[in-house]
Amino acid sequence: MKKPNAEIGVLGGSGLYDPGILENVEEVKIYTPYGPPSDSILIGEVGGRKVAFLPRHGRGHRLPPHRINYRANIWAFKELGVTRVISVSAVGSLREDYRPGDFVCTDQFIDMTKKREYTFYDGPVVAHVSMADPFCPELRKVCLEAAKREDITVHERGTYVCIEGPRFSTRAESRLWRQMGADIIGMTLVPEVVLAREARMCFVNIAMVTDYDVWAEKPVTAQEVARVMAENIEKVKRLLYRMIPMIPRERKCGCARYLDEALI
Ligand SMILES: [Zn+2]
Repeated sequence: MKKPNAEIGVLGGSGLYDPGILENVEEVKIYTPYGPPSDSILIGEVGGRKVAFLPRHGRGHRLPPHRINYRANIWAFKELGVTRVISVSAVGSLREDYRPGDFVCTDQFIDMTKKREYTFYDGPVVAHVSMADPFCPELRKVCLEAAKREDITVHERGTYVCIEGPRFSTRAESRLWRQMGADIIGMTLVPEVVLAREARMCFVNIAMVTDYDVWAEKPVTAQEVARVMAENIEKVKRLLYRMIPMIPRERKCGCARYLDEALI
């Protein structure tokens, strides 16, 4: 049997457990030195490009953010040959003009997580990888262009504060995130984006705004999040379907090289 492979990896967030856009799909199980990834991986084609899809919470949303094996997920993509990662996540909004149903192409993050595995390099080899610009400029451009063509509202910039969860923020915390300069809030971006960089991958985050967190009048509930998500999941699928074939085959960005400067 031919070894399964893929060029582009999609990490599905809450509500996205099967993109429904893949052709010639096969399902593969991957084993990693870090244990099993969140679920089996669907491999298929979109516009002639080989895509691997993994729902980061597992199908049926079995894994809360703090229990996701981020290292196994990124390692599994690496095993398959993935060099580009598109991460889809549901987020809360920390500003008025980022409305439920809008999308954000995240360009910065603030890490407020507490107890995760943040690196593949636990010693004796040590890596201090640069995160000044965490996202791939090429993939960001493609994402924004694809959104324009699909007439989907995507905000060009957004700072994502990643909290530990699984609980939502207190009002005081939510006010603090706003003061820190964060625009959106979620629970899964870190360490996913960091590990992808250590694995020499390009990474882009498409964040779907599901609610106004708790700084606004009406505090967020999990039910409300699920409702907005269900209404908008078709838009995500359309965006992915449009975006994937637009990704240049050759990488001209510097994402693969960050690790060279990071190793000690
Ligand atoms: Zn890149």
